[in-house]
Amino acid sequence: MGVMTRPTASTDALVLRAWPCGETSAVASLLTRDHGYVKVIAKAARRPLSTLRPLVEPGRLLTVEFSLEPGRELQYLRGGGVELDPLRGEPTLERSAYLLGALELVDRCRPAGALVRDEPDGAADLFGVCDAFLRMLSSPAGPEPALMFFAFEWELLARHGLAPELSLCCVCGRPRAEVAEATRRFSAAEGGLLCGECARGGADAGGRPLGQDALDMLDALEAYGLGGPERLMPAPTPTARREVGGHLHRFLGYHLPGYRLPAALDLLRAAKVSGHEGNGS
Ligand SMILES: [Zn+2]
Repeated sequence: MGVMTRPTASTDALVLRAWPCGETSAVASLLTRDHGYVKVIAKAARRPLSTLRPLVEPGRLLTVEFSLEPGRELQYLRGGGVELDPLRGEPTLERSAYLLGALELVDRCRPAGALVRDEPDGAADLFGVCDAFLRMLSSPAGPEPALMFFAFEWELLARHGLAPELSLCCVCGRPRAEVAEATRRFSAAEGGLLCGECARGGADAGGRPLGQDALDMLDALEAYGLGGPERLMPAPTPTARREVGGHLHRFLGYHLPGYRLPAALDLLRAAKVSGHEGNGS
């Protein structure tokens, strides 16, 4: 140890994005358990034998060590190891697309500034959600990727204090049991369930009908979060899935500034439309 010990962070991290820098280096954007979003430079990581090379692949869960110098936009990645690679083996197009979609979503939810210094608990919480999602996605026995992704979206919303309200009409407060099934609506702008009367009264900008199957799915997501998909018995119908996917997507778009459908999922949707699900949206 020298006289000046250089401050170092040692924590778990998820690689959100990585890109080349200079001749042989790479820069990676990380979500870390203890320090929020951190950008690191991995010197010479693109050399074949570099020990940093496996640490700059998007989607991997790592243990990492990096410099922790306040005020620096880029920290130095010093070392670490791969805890989990969700794309090892032969990942399906679906699994890859939902993984990339989740990374894009988390990357886009970042606050301004490189480090989330003022909100360490929030960072750990967000990291925990990502960690759980990636472990489920990597498990061959796990639930379907689409259902896991919905649960992931729900958990992100809940983490921001924005989870949709399902127990009562968001406008008049009427309990759900008193809202006739056929008149139920789901409104991103109002924050969740909407009764027919309030919808007719004009409080339904962008609202959509909310079917029983879709509501059952949303209930499971609310009750169990990422543990929800496994409890959906019988499995949700394709109609209910599409409906829930649409509701969550509009909800995220309305409440998280900067959110749009992750490009990876656009690709998946395009592949499906050109394949067997011919009637699209
Ligand atoms: Zn109402």
